[in-house]
Amino acid sequence: MANKDVTDPVRMEKIVSLCKRRGFIFQAGELYGGLNGCWDYGPLGAELKRNLKDYWWRKTVQERDDVLGMDGAILTMEAVLQSSGHIGGFSDPMVDCKTCKGRFRADNLDTYECKEKPSVCPGASPKCELTEPREFNLMLQTNFGATGEQIAYLRPETAQSIFCQYKNILDSNRVKLPFGIAQIGKSFRNEINPRNYIFRSREFEQMEIEYFCRPEDGMRLTDEWLETRLCFYEEIGIPRAKLHILDVPDGDRAFYSKKTYDIEYEFPFGIQELEGVAYRTDYDLGVHAKGSGRPLEYFDEETKERFLPHVVEPSAGCDRTVLALICEAFDEEELGTDGNSDMRTVMRFMPSMAPIKVAIFPLLKKNEEQVRICREIQKSLQPWMNVFYDDSGAVGRRYRRQDEIGTPFCVTVDFETLGEETPDLKGTVTLRHRDSMEQERLPVVDLLPWLLARVR
Ligand code: ATP
Repeated sequence: MANKDVTDPVRMEKIVSLCKRRGFIFQAGELYGGLNGCWDYGPLGAELKRNLKDYWWRKTVQERDDVLGMDGAILTMEAVLQSSGHIGGFSDPMVDCKTCKGRFRADNLDTYECKEKPSVCPGASPKCELTEPREFNLMLQTNFGATGEQIAYLRPETAQSIFCQYKNILDSNRVKLPFGIAQIGKSFRNEINPRNYIFRSREFEQMEIEYFCRPEDGMRLTDEWLETRLCFYEEIGIPRAKLHILDVPDGDRAFYSKKTYDIEYEFPFGIQELEGVAYRTDYDLGVHAKGSGRPLEYFDEETKERFLPHVVEPSAGCDRTVLALICEAFDEEELGTDGNSDMRTVMRFMPSMAPIKVAIFPLLKKNEEQVRICREIQKSLQPWMNVFYDDSGAVGRRYRRQDEIGTPFCVTVDFETLGEETPDLKGTVTLRHRDSMEQERLPVVDLLPWLLARVR
């Protein structure tokens, strides 16, 4: 972790409160007291997350010739996780404090506060009495079969189904090295301390790529993927200046990894990992070939060589990226008008990520013609994007409600649209920009292409 202090608990509190108030994110099972480490996405959060996943898929799979997608099962065979090393070794060191009864991850004690003496880490407070670290396996197990005799695991990462299907995908798609397999899906870890809102959860979604290559290309491709992924974050609205690259030192990397970069973001609770880009050598295919007894080698038609491909893995957390998008977008702007200060809360999402792309308002809800035109516009845009119709309260307040959820554009159908007194403006609407608050007039017939050019 870098030593720059970026923490801002007040900002974080405001973000969490807005997310609940406007329906981005709720605690799972809140009605019954809440399920620790699990979150439900409300209407706006679900849209934001979907925009992120769709964009990742488009950039990673659709727009590339060398990456194929897959969608694997969540329930995972014991044998798979035995070979991968998760059953024996997927654990974090855990300590208990005998004084405050807190339970912590021993490898990052300095990021917690002692309950007895806040602002001091557990262990550093004179009152702390920590147990020796014990290994705590993070996997969640389930049973199936009529008598529950068969054990399965909720996958701790999406990667394993990619390794296990690598040969089937290779054979059924006639691809050549280098090529990648990408997957988005849920993963589960029984985290010791779920915390920092949705940052560390027990149920979360990952966006992973396993990029298979010749051994001699591994290091170069790791650097190339790092750059590709940094560009991705910039494209979705997370500036490079807020990202930190941690070149994970020798002792801290997994033993099979020759190179690992952590891409970290300046969250209001500290600089923390968003994604790992790891060169995993031929470790994964090697252990599955051994464990299954099936050959997983690649045959190079040109050189007539047979070998196990190496793997570069860019592995991103979907929920963590959603949180980074929310933290980055959140802004409070002082709009001073003649000494009357007025605070505007605005989520500055990029239009491509914004949950709602455009809001449509009739200036007067009692004006039937304005309402009719609004509904027509709404219908014409809905097949292409999320549209929100609102006719309640003053237009200024409607703008503010949209600013708060990050809607980049608002369209108002007004008296000019009807053209009774302004024939030259007939058929045009007021289009208002969220960030600059500037307004312009646009013909209704141009709205769809105008928006499509900006919101995807
Ligand atoms: P950490 O050190 O934070 O526990 P990790 O290094 O174990 O994470 P990986 O196993 O590399 O994480 O998983 C890849 C990505 O999956 C992470 O970069 C993160 O974005 C996401 N991820 C991992 N664990 C969680 C979690 N508990 N909640 C949310 N996202 C997670």
